[in-house]
Amino acid sequence: MARNGRKSFYDEAMETFHRAAGLIRMDPRVRMELEEPDFEHIFYVTVNTRDRLVPLAPDEQPPFRDLAPSDVKAGDALEPLADGAFILHRRALLEADITMRRGVINIPGKGFFRLEKGGPRKFKAYRIQHNQVRGPYKGGIRYHKECSLDLFKTLAADMTWKTAIAEVPFGGGKGGIRFDPFAYSKEEIEAITLRYVYKLKNLMGPYLDIPAPDVGTNGEIMAIMMRQYTDGERERHALRGVVTGKDVRIGGSEGRVKATGQGIVYCIEEWAREKELELEGARVIVQGFGNVGAAAAEILSAKGARIVAVNDAHGTVHRDSGLDVRALVQYVHGDPRNLRRTVAGFPGGTAISRDDFWGVDADLCIPAALGEAIDGPVAERLRVKLVAEGANGPTTREGDAVLAARGIEVIPDVICNAGGVTVSYYEWLQNQRLERWTEAEVNGRLERAIKKNYAIIRDVARDRPARTPDHDSRPYCVGRPLDVRTAAMVLALKRIEAHYLLEGFSQ
Ligand code: NAD
Repeated sequence: MARNGRKSFYDEAMETFHRAAGLIRMDPRVRMELEEPDFEHIFYVTVNTRDRLVPLAPDEQPPFRDLAPSDVKAGDALEPLADGAFILHRRALLEADITMRRGVINIPGKGFFRLEKGGPRKFKAYRIQHNQVRGPYKGGIRYHKECSLDLFKTLAADMTWKTAIAEVPFGGGKGGIRFDPFAYSKEEIEAITLRYVYKLKNLMGPYLDIPAPDVGTNGEIMAIMMRQYTDGERERHALRGVVTGKDVRIGGSEGRVKATGQGIVYCIEEWAREKELELEGARVIVQGFGNVGAAAAEILSAKGARIVAVNDAHGTVHRDSGLDVRALVQYVHGDPRNLRRTVAGFPGGTAISRDDFWGVDADLCIPAALGEAIDGPVAERLRVKLVAEGANGPTTREGDAVLAARGIEVIPDVICNAGGVTVSYYEWLQNQRLERWTEAEVNGRLERAIKKNYAIIRDVARDRPARTPDHDSRPYCVGRPLDVRTAAMVLALKRIEAHYLLEGFSQ
């Protein structure tokens, strides 16, 4: 599939796979097995949506200017959505005095709205199961308006490499639903989630395929998924490990919410130690202020780093002396009026354009939003020493080439954001053993795991085989230096290939 004449996202991402497979002279049949996903599930979910009050565009309003105001007494029965519409819960009408003309009402203080009838709606859904040779399929669920088979295949393959690099006994999967969760009510999102799991039930399970949060999903969605999967089962408590990223009160792990951000910081610490750069006072720009970006920013700022600019889907805030990250987290995630959960409008910084964001002078850049953010022109614009990839696939091939030419180093996504899946494994283990670990235990293990595998990748990249009490890179070096992304893939492929070579192929 071509994208403006370019290769598909998947084919482009798989170039690193093919390069590394060639370098390690991977067995041709193993290579063929890994080249495509095991299964590509594409299906549809239908739900009944609620009636909505949709704001009238300014040019539609003149004929209604004289419309008598309507008095909706149960104001909380109008649920605001991030796109400006309101979900109309029926109790809003019980005590109301409504004047409607051609489907339009005038609510004082809110504006003119057209009533749009709800009804059945259909959504395209995906679950790609890429590979399970090392363990059950594992990977996030994304709710986003722009997603496709091509994207989910790429992200599922990334999980196969990442679980191998993190040395957790899982394979790779990814999935989600194509819709904008900000344009739906909580109740509608619950219905969509329930239907998704209903259809996927035979394909998931704690030893089969284990979803987790990704863009547009969180612990609340995981709770709904767990309930739907375990509902009516005789031994439902034994099945909690069917999803990870749950709230700690219902079987989630301490440290999971921040784990991806924490893993990024462990990688950055290792990088900075070698460069003899102090994190205290280091300047950081962050793209994406959701689960990953906000956690990374909070942890780095607690170490004395200065978060000088943050960009998200709706805006950018900048403060040269460093943003107050705690206040920013509260503004974005702690204020129910911030429906789009955006940094835009944060009073503790100045608004700048996205283009200027990429040009802010800093030491570190953490892309933690969507894929393909750092293309050639953005890579030209960056004024940082390191790109630590919190997002999956944030750097395009051209972006990579420009960064390399400009001497900007990269910590690739497959190790940089592997903290999430690592702690997901700890959560799964705690669920299987009915245990509960402390945050210190979780973070201690996470730090050792990330730093060990980071050190192996660094040695492979430099072709310096070494063995220390904490790591052994000798089996992975290929006899010549490599770029870090290829080095990480070599590590993944050697670990995966061992299963095929030692276990053979089932017929
Ligand atoms: P999230 O939904 O919590 O947050 C996404 C953030 O990205 C939001 O701040 C949003 O405004 C921003 N964003 C969306 N579109 C944007 C755009 N076009 N430009 C700028 N910003 C934009 O998602 P998340 O869980 O934090 O995931 C972020 C990235 O990290 C994704 O690439 C995801 O695959 C990856 N990741 C997540 C986890 C995890 O544990 N959640 C683990 C590994 C990797």
